[in-house]
Amino acid sequence: MKSIKTKEVAVLLIGPFNDTFDYLIEENINEISVGQIVSAPFRQRKVVGIIVSEGSKTISQSKLKTLIDIYEIDPIPLPTIDLISFLANWNCVYKGLVLKMVLSPLEAIISPQYNKIYKYNLEDSLSIDSIDNKKLRSKRKLVLDALINSDKEVYETSLIQDIGVSKTVLKDMVNKNLIIEKLIKIMPDFSKNFIKSNDIKKENDKLLNEHQKNAVDKINKSILKDKTDCFLLDGVPGSGKTETYFETVRTCLNERKQVLILLPEIALTPDWQKRFYNKFNFNPLVWHSDVSKKKRKEIWLSALSGTAGVIVGARSALMIPISKLGLIVVDEEHEPAFKQEENVRYNARDMAVYRANRSSATIVLASATPSLETFYNMRMGKYIHLTLPKRATGADMPDIKLLDLKLYPPQKGNWISPLLINEIQNKLLKKEQTLLFLNRRGYAPLRVCNSCGNKVKCINCETWLVEHRLVNLLTCHHCGYSKHISNICEVCGNKDQMKSCGPGVERIEEEVQRLFPEAKSITLSSDTMKNQNLLTNAIEQIKNSEVDIIIGTQMVAKGHDFPKLKLVGIIDGDIGLSGGDLRASERSFQLLQQVAGRSGRHTTSSNDKGIVYLQTFDTENPIIKAIAQNNRDEFFEKELISRKNANMPPYGRLAAIILSSKFESDLDSFASDVSRLAPSFKNVKIFGPAPAPMYFLRGKYRRRFLIKSDKTVNIQKVLIDWTKKVHKPSNINLTIDIDPFSFM
Ligand code: ADP
Ligand code: ZN
Repeated sequence: MKSIKTKEVAVLLIGPFNDTFDYLIEENINEISVGQIVSAPFRQRKVVGIIVSEGSKTISQSKLKTLIDIYEIDPIPLPTIDLISFLANWNCVYKGLVLKMVLSPLEAIISPQYNKIYKYNLEDSLSIDSIDNKKLRSKRKLVLDALINSDKEVYETSLIQDIGVSKTVLKDMVNKNLIIEKLIKIMPDFSKNFIKSNDIKKENDKLLNEHQKNAVDKINKSILKDKTDCFLLDGVPGSGKTETYFETVRTCLNERKQVLILLPEIALTPDWQKRFYNKFNFNPLVWHSDVSKKKRKEIWLSALSGTAGVIVGARSALMIPISKLGLIVVDEEHEPAFKQEENVRYNARDMAVYRANRSSATIVLASATPSLETFYNMRMGKYIHLTLPKRATGADMPDIKLLDLKLYPPQKGNWISPLLINEIQNKLLKKEQTLLFLNRRGYAPLRVCNSCGNKVKCINCETWLVEHRLVNLLTCHHCGYSKHISNICEVCGNKDQMKSCGPGVERIEEEVQRLFPEAKSITLSSDTMKNQNLLTNAIEQIKNSEVDIIIGTQMVAKGHDFPKLKLVGIIDGDIGLSGGDLRASERSFQLLQQVAGRSGRHTTSSNDKGIVYLQTFDTENPIIKAIAQNNRDEFFEKELISRKNANMPPYGRLAAIILSSKFESDLDSFASDVSRLAPSFKNVKIFGPAPAPMYFLRGKYRRRFLIKSDKTVNIQKVLIDWTKKVHKPSNINLTIDIDPFSFM
């Protein structure tokens, strides 16, 4: 803790601020430190912020306002304060808005929970006799008796329970000076969150193989020496990465240091949590958007006080001010879900590396298909490479077979090739499971009129509506707009000419039921698995072999371990191959490899290997070929070369400016203002303004600039200097996206 001696302090307030404001602290307060959470008067309002340093002394004391509150709560740790600055500067966003993410939920700070305790009012003391003589109604006498007989204060709850007195009576007694009330702040009790090593269930400990042991040893050494190493834990799906990092979590807990595990939201499954519990005998603190405010408040406070052992969460968990951080794990580090695309745009994985570094904590990035950036950093020696080359269960990797749809097309109106149908039949006979993967929700990606060619579009976005037949709706996946499915074309008015175009998982399920009426099938997508309970049940059913055929979107691609699953059929291997954006190939590769990795994870002999059928029209495509040959590194090398030639990340820098507005002509004239003021540097190329591929989204028109530069350029400074020069009308939004993931 860095204490402050002056009476003037610099405060960073929540809000659109980069600069701090000076305030005075009251004379009677002697001890104050950096990171302390305060509230301050600001433009007739009370705003929460944190003290970041001594005052700047640029304004005379007499003109300064005094802080309103200094909250009785541990100060925000210095590494988190550093993170606020770094994240804000890197991503060109306001520090005060990053602070808002850190101080969330704000209720944890400004409205602490209290217990009421009572004691007998000695100053106004009455002897028992005089109480007896007083005409106090019986409950009150009992309360006084209880307080006189107890030498300590008594909790409100126990008075209510033991005596049956009401809160109103207690309040009345306080008002009449018979008893004294005190408020005690409740701190959440998370004493169970750290384990003693003998608490761990030994029967759930797996004997680690040599690769796992080697990885654990290296990571443990780093944890024990407080080093800030960054590890890439790189292992094929099922190689025991989770088991490996669990082991290092244990080391960290034994050192009484806290652990943060970041998972993409989609992987935060009950399955994972169960596995954690089986190993450690306590539940980690789970943090994501669906967790109640009350729970988040508890987690936040215990993280700050150092009593939370393990916090597992989606990307926003990175902002929790953990005071004694020893280890961060970013599992599935390649996942785009770590990039936040709205409000404050940032990449939680990259910021996690910084956060760990500032805390002298170890960080582990785990993946079977690392992102190209991480792979590159490993190549450059920034990250330490730990490999788990084999499946931990001893099972062989699956055989991947390309299924050429030109040679073996499905029947008209169907999507599963006869070859794959045959293979599914085989598996059904052997009572083994099949997974059919298609990364498309709903019944069909669009609905089109056979008569006039009209495709049903969203009214708010430049996109087609997706048909969801189960709920009889056409829905926009961008803005949520939906309407009923109709058989009449809105454009030509013809009846019964509307056709569903292309498949979604619902349609595949329909086909499966038609082809294998006896088989039990289940669809896993965000539409069918709306809550954790449904998903838990589905996973249970699959594990208990109550399901023969699983149909799923990317929801099934990751993390799950289904022992009976022997066949994976990829319905459309070509989706996303021609996406055209920077990471299209990389992402397709990752997703396909992840899905393929579900097959045959627990097979015992080599003639019983898992099989993957990849349906494609493009067997010569380099990504498809790399998947088929299980040749990840060669694919990565090629991809790196092509990025290098194009001076794209990780070799060059990339950023975007996105302008949006409800008013198209205002937008265009503003875009040309921005363009006119564009800087001109040798190493910076500016493209645009161009209508965004999604040029109309959620009711707003959109234009984009793409900025490309050499790695030596401070692209943030270029962008800030540039955008500062333009006068932005209030009906236009301007967003800067550093290292964009989405190019829409
Ligand atoms: P990953 O995270 O790499 O996908 P997991 O840690 O989930 O791999 O392990 C895959 C499967 O192998 C799980 O069922 C796990 O219990 C099992 N497993 C992991 N390590 C071992 C080991 N050393 N011995 C036996 N089984 C293991
Ligand atoms: Zn829409």
